[in-house]
Amino acid sequence: MGRQPLWRRVGFVPPITYFKPAGVPLAQLQEICLSVEEAEAIRLKDIEKLEQEECGQMMNISRTTFARVLASARQKMADALLNGKAIRIEGGDFEMALRRFRCVNGHEWDVPFEVMINTPPQLCPTCNTSTIMPTWPWGPDWGGRGGGRRRRGGHNW
Ligand SMILES: [Zn+2]
Repeated sequence: MGRQPLWRRVGFVPPITYFKPAGVPLAQLQEICLSVEEAEAIRLKDIEKLEQEECGQMMNISRTTFARVLASARQKMADALLNGKAIRIEGGDFEMALRRFRCVNGHEWDVPFEVMINTPPQLCPTCNTSTIMPTWPWGPDWGGRGGGRRRRGGHNW
């Protein structure tokens, strides 16, 4: 079973992804993992101060789903803050609002989320090779192997 694309849209990935309380020995340190979409939920609601409806639209999810993601994010942050746990931000089921692609010849270009849903890129705009892939450090199946990897059955990110 492959992963189902959930299309939670994220417009921002925090530049700092690890927070550690001062004065806690590493051996005693507990860690909570905040997903990237949970971080985005907090950003949209608590920093951008958008309504939940708008936040859901921004992330391409329903308002009730957004509320659940936000509640989980806040609960984790409160747990970390009050119980002295480290926070690691990583992973999750999400798509970037803008996605960078790279071809086997090393050309890179960005594809907006809206475009990607309807017409995923098939060819490199520079050299027209069809051996292209999204460049994303957390991609579940991509990366680390160099270019040229293709999937059967078409695109499935
Ligand atoms: Zn190219």
